[in-house]
Amino acid sequence: FLQIRDVHKSYGTTPVLNGVSLEVAKHEVVCLIGASGSGKSTLLRCINALETINSGEILVNGDEVTGRGVDLNVLRRNVGMVFQSYNLFPHMSVLKNITLAPTMIGGVPKAAAEERAVELLEKIGLKDKVGAFPDALSGGQQQRVAIARAMAMDPQVLLLDEITAALDPELVGDVLEIIRELARGGLTMLLATHEMGFAREVASQVCFLHQGRILERGTPERIFEDPSEERTQQFLSRVI
Ligand code: ATP
Ligand code: MG
Repeated sequence: FLQIRDVHKSYGTTPVLNGVSLEVAKHEVVCLIGASGSGKSTLLRCINALETINSGEILVNGDEVTGRGVDLNVLRRNVGMVFQSYNLFPHMSVLKNITLAPTMIGGVPKAAAEERAVELLEKIGLKDKVGAFPDALSGGQQQRVAIARAMAMDPQVLLLDEITAALDPELVGDVLEIIRELARGGLTMLLATHEMGFAREVASQVCFLHQGRILERGTPERIFEDPSEERTQQFLSRVI
C-alpha cells in the first residue's frame, strides 16, 4: 500500500536517507526505531511530501508522491500526520481544530464535519472538551485531539512522529490506547518512536533505521528478542 524504493535524501551535502526501501501493507502498523538522527522523521516527512527526495520512489496506493502533477491536497487528505508537538491551532476550539481541514480542504459541509468531530471526540473520551481551547487541555488530551484532527480527514494511512515523546509517562497510556484502537479498526500506520514498549505493543512490524538505511525489519518479538544485526543489538542494549 505504501511503497518506498531506494529513497535518497540529503540536506545540502549531508546525506540523511541512504537508500531506504520499505513496504507497508494495508492494515499494517509499522514502527520505525533507531538512534536520534537516523532519519526517522525525515522519512515520514518525505512520505507526506513535506520534504523532497533526491532519488528513489515513494508510492501511496500506487500513486507516486514525488511525481509531477501530484495534487498535494489529495495526497495529504490520504496521508495523515501527527507530530510530537501537537500543533493544534491555539486560537481555535477543539471542535474548530478538528473540522477546519474537512470543511476547508475536504469540502465536507460544516454540520457533517461537526457531527463527525463529536463522534471522534467521543471515541477518544473527550466529548466534553468540544468547546475548549487547546491551552485548557493537558498534553495528553491535546495529543488525542491532534490524532482526532488527523482522523477527521479519513486518511488511508496515518504517519505518527514521536507522538508520546512530549508527554508525561502517565499520559502515554491514553494515547497508546487510541493507537491500539485505530490499529484494531484496520488503519494503516507508520510511526517513529523512541519508546520500545510502545513499539512492541502496537507494531506488527518493526524497522531499525541506522544512518539512513533500514538495517533490519521483523516482528517486534524477533527484533527485540533476537535481533540479527549487531547494530540493532547495540542500539537496543542502550535503550532498553
Ligand atoms: P530523532 O530520533 O532525534 O527524532 P530522527 O531519526 O527523526 O531523529 P531526523 O530528524 O530525520 O532524525 O534527522 C536526520 C538527520 O537530518 C539529522 O542528522 C538532522 O540533523 C538532519 N536534518 C533534519 N532536518 C534537517 C533540516 N531541515 N536541515 C538540515 N538537516 C536536517
Ligand atoms: Mg525525529
